[in-house]
Amino acid sequence: MEESSNSPKLIYEEKKAIKLFLWLFYIFFLGYDLFYYYLLHKFTNYGKVGIPDDGLGLWLYIIILCFLPLSIYIIKKGNPYLVKYIILLSYIITDIINALMIYFGTSLTFAMGNIVDVLFIFFSPIFVNKKYFWSASVGIIGKYILLGVVLKDLNVLPPILTTLIIAAIAFIVLIRFYSYINSLTYVHEELRQKEKLAVIGQMAAAIGHEIRNPLSSLKGFTQLQQERNPNSNNYYPIMIQEIDRINSIVNDLMYIGKPRELKFEKTSIEEVIAYTLSITQQQAERQGITVETTMVEPLPPLNCDVKQLKQVFLNLIKNAIESMPEGGMMQVHVKAVESHKMYISIQDEGCGIADENILNLGEPFFTTKKDGTGLGLMVTNQIIKDHNGELKIESVIGKGTNVKVILPIIQEKIEIHNSTIIQISAK
Ligand code: ADP
Ligand code: MG
Repeated sequence: MEESSNSPKLIYEEKKAIKLFLWLFYIFFLGYDLFYYYLLHKFTNYGKVGIPDDGLGLWLYIIILCFLPLSIYIIKKGNPYLVKYIILLSYIITDIINALMIYFGTSLTFAMGNIVDVLFIFFSPIFVNKKYFWSASVGIIGKYILLGVVLKDLNVLPPILTTLIIAAIAFIVLIRFYSYINSLTYVHEELRQKEKLAVIGQMAAAIGHEIRNPLSSLKGFTQLQQERNPNSNNYYPIMIQEIDRINSIVNDLMYIGKPRELKFEKTSIEEVIAYTLSITQQQAERQGITVETTMVEPLPPLNCDVKQLKQVFLNLIKNAIESMPEGGMMQVHVKAVESHKMYISIQDEGCGIADENILNLGEPFFTTKKDGTGLGLMVTNQIIKDHNGELKIESVIGKGTNVKVILPIIQEKIEIHNSTIIQISAK
């Protein structure tokens, strides 16, 4: 589709387009002149017979026919993308020279305007290439403007106008092609992503399952040891903490590509937020982060899976804290709107998210942290999706990030959306 692409399939497509283009070019060019200089005269009194003796005369045809071996040579050299530009340029130059030889310094009025011009623009969508479309349109119109200026002849206006109209039509067709191809690419990409996730998900679930059992006995025995030797050393809490960490990573892994069963119950959002803040409080204090929480009363109870919702806010608040290693302020704001939607926003003053990373957020294993897993946002996204909610991320690099979670207050009928609901914007 674009010049930069070197895939054999696309090169093959380009060659097919060039072949079609060359056929059309010669049929139009020779057909038009055949009609104009032979047939027209037969039936009307209009026009002259035979090869024109003005301008380049016979040379015009010789030069134009030379484009063919030149094109074949360039294709053979492996540059099929170049051919259309070279033909376009050679044609324009030849045509200008021909026109100048006929009209320059004479009192003849300009009466040219070749059907081949139309071909260049009208069929430009076959290359599905905007650059070529613009080159052809600007080139052909430029040719007439140049001739108009040099010959001081306003008769170039009709062909300019015709060209503009044809260009507008071709542009619409081209845009349709582009839009269609983009949708196809998008669908294909989505499918590929889903398949990838399914494979990773199966693998992760299998491995996770195998790890969890030995992990829980390891934790049990470590706790037992700790109880038996309460005074021996301080390493047991660290060991238990690390086992918990492995466990939470394994849990996240098992989330990839498949939703969990949800246990909906009436929950107070204040409690969920308070719980998550209490767990993260120590880390926040260590980093010198002040936390400001505002809850706009009244807050109706949410119908949701508490355990999973806690996981959501734990991930988001942890990300906010981790984005401010040098301290700062984190604001958690909760409000209910029209008693059917709950808005929870988490604003930090951290590093922000770079533009080039924005699209990767929520992809499994995408992380910019040294010991990050890149699973937090994916799990969060999945849980919010299962709750029919929305996740919006706004970030200004160097200034901070605002993460908004919007949850329906009453879960009526859960429809699992297939589309991704993570909405991200950078400023
Ligand atoms: P992890 O935290 O393990 O890296 P996440 O899925 O939670 O994985 O986050 C993925 C990435 O998104 C992070 O590595 C970070 O680059 C970016 N990110 C998420 N939240 C924030 C935030 N509040 N501020 C800055 N960057 C963030
Ligand atoms: Mg995280």
